[in-house]
Amino acid sequence: MGSKIQAIRGMNDILPVETPIWQYLESCVANVVKAYGYQQIRFPVLENTDLFKRGVGETTDIVEKEMYTFDDRNGESLTLRPEGTASCVRAANQAGLLFNQIQRLWYMGPMFRYERPQKGRYRQFHQIGAESFGIATPDIDAELIILTARLWKKLGLLPHVELQINTIATAEARETYKASLVEYLTEFKDKLDEDSQRRLTTNPLRILDSKDESTQRLLDDAPKFSDYVDEESQVEFDRLKELLTANGIDFVVNQRLVRGLDYYSKTVFEWVTSHLGAQATVCAGGRYDGLVAQLGGKPTPAFGFAMGIERLILLLDSLNLVPEEVKNSTDIFIVSLGSEAEIQSFKLAEQLRTANEKWTVLRHCGGGNFKKQMKKADAANASFALILGEDEVKQNCCQVKNLVTGEQTNCMIDEVSQYLLNQC
Ligand code: ATP
Ligand code: MG
Repeated sequence: MGSKIQAIRGMNDILPVETPIWQYLESCVANVVKAYGYQQIRFPVLENTDLFKRGVGETTDIVEKEMYTFDDRNGESLTLRPEGTASCVRAANQAGLLFNQIQRLWYMGPMFRYERPQKGRYRQFHQIGAESFGIATPDIDAELIILTARLWKKLGLLPHVELQINTIATAEARETYKASLVEYLTEFKDKLDEDSQRRLTTNPLRILDSKDESTQRLLDDAPKFSDYVDEESQVEFDRLKELLTANGIDFVVNQRLVRGLDYYSKTVFEWVTSHLGAQATVCAGGRYDGLVAQLGGKPTPAFGFAMGIERLILLLDSLNLVPEEVKNSTDIFIVSLGSEAEIQSFKLAEQLRTANEKWTVLRHCGGGNFKKQMKKADAANASFALILGEDEVKQNCCQVKNLVTGEQTNCMIDEVSQYLLNQC
């Protein structure tokens, strides 16, 4: 016997007990985004490495150390997508969808990052994202945030997540701020954590969201981003706050929220939770007006977000928010004894599947006596067992047993569907 082959570390199988929760979450999101006019787009999991280098940014964590990159057989450098926005822009642009038009798009699927696997952090994980193109005004920022709030409400998560927002202004304002931040922090370089020391020259803004306490203390007296925000970004940020308040969406302004990807400008936001330890962010996004042009398209304003499905499922599970009816269950289990009854049981099962497409109808397969078959019905957690024996076949009927109450009645075959429709 060969040795068992294991899955790749950090890449999880999603087992049958879990898939109903995934389907529940996915269908909730699909319904909500549709209600706001978003259309689904699907793009490949593999792209040219340059797309992410140019799109996500050379000095980001993702590009520096998290990408699955390899040469294909022609020597071309390819990368498993670490996020969806760059691919979405590439695909929409390539199809001419972004030229002088408004687009509301969404996507879902696996993403790949070489990170240290832990609870809520994996090497293959799943995101659902939405992106809007062609709208420069903060009403779309508000609309997308309101969309996410509607989803949390629907899932029962709203009391357990907090909305943090910030503006990281225009590229020019960021450059001026970066210069004063670097000037201030260089003086205390020794006191910065290792990552932040490196970022001082590569990506100084990321120092703001360092998790290191001594770095955070140094930042208390550092120049404040808010003093460097340009007039236009400030007006737009104020309007966003006004729109959120008017729509009853609570938020906190987190001046140290900068996000880890280079393409963001102006509004950035995150939904965070205190229930998942260090993996606190369940949904994150913002404005990225420069990205479309950076990837070769016509300058197009854009705003979007991505949410981490695994983290949302961990949260739903830990808070017991998965509705009971979502979990796997069998509605009707058919048992039969004898050759003729077996033939009838197929017909009956098909009749029931036609009567209600939502029912799960299991026919016992593999023979055995009634007792053994009824045990299988219990094990399947069925609501009803239908019993067909020689006598029933002769009389053109079947026994209907309610497995919850134990009640049993006799029902004509033609009337079983209607009887069960009335019961369920
Ligand atoms: P973090 O700071 O936790 O590394 P990030 O800023 O890298 O997150 P984004 O690139 O903004 O994350 O991705 C959006 C969302 O995708 C995150 O908020 C999170 O919910 C989820 N996510 C990101 N990386 C992972 C991962 N390795 N495993 C599981 N979920 C992830
Ligand atoms: Mg990350």
